[in-house]
Amino acid sequence: MRYIEPHAHMVSRTTSDYEAMRLAGCEAVCEPAFWAGFDRSSADGFYDYFCQLTDYEPKRAAKFGLPHFCWLCINPKESEDMVLAREVLALIPGFLERPNVLGIGEIGLNKNTRNELAILEEHIDLAARFNQLILVHTPHLEDKLKGTKLILDLLQADSRIQPGRVIIDHVEEHTVSLVLDAGFWAGITLYPESKATPARAVDMVERAGMQNIWLNCACDWGRSEPLAVPQTALEMRRRGHSAKAVDDLIYGNPLRFLSQSPRFRIE
Ligand SMILES: [Zn+2]
Repeated sequence: MRYIEPHAHMVSRTTSDYEAMRLAGCEAVCEPAFWAGFDRSSADGFYDYFCQLTDYEPKRAAKFGLPHFCWLCINPKESEDMVLAREVLALIPGFLERPNVLGIGEIGLNKNTRNELAILEEHIDLAARFNQLILVHTPHLEDKLKGTKLILDLLQADSRIQPGRVIIDHVEEHTVSLVLDAGFWAGITLYPESKATPARAVDMVERAGMQNIWLNCACDWGRSEPLAVPQTALEMRRRGHSAKAVDDLIYGNPLRFLSQSPRFRIE
């Protein structure tokens, strides 16, 4: 089995996780910028985090033969502080030329507030001006449907944005078609306590089709499973999906989306 892990917060994980992922067939890992589990007190905290994502973490992953890529932004939760958010936005162009940077993400909404929406719009503008791919985080549970609609509206209102260069992550049964029908890519997140289990994820792809969808584990500092993608592949094989169908979903699809960035190159 081979796969690409398109969404994992490896700064929160141990080196044994890198080793286990590599042994399970992981060929590349991609790390969106996100909330650290606490609010950072200044833009300097983000400067250091962006250095970690673009310098230290790729070196750590390389020890296990894993190419490491990342996405940059200020996450929606900390975007509530608009002064801080704008200071962080101003730092990002200085990092976009680093060799492992794929685009702007994971941007989006958390509580669907006015401030979050304003900063989301500024991230979309930044991505358009620098011709970057976009990775979007959608809110949890009861805020998800409304948040997803607000995000799609904002993206569609900007004529510079091509939906095929945007992935809307953490889709669920009630948002997946909305995203795919509008021409965007959809990400299904496998997470033990919220989001999808492997069985639910396979149900979803069986219904929605396997065209522009990727699976990811989004492992972070909380209860999460770095091997959730290969575990879901086993569930697909158990249900009778062919090895080729599984390979297309967990390797071919992320490869196709991510290769739109000239920086995403794997052997
Ligand atoms: Zn994430």
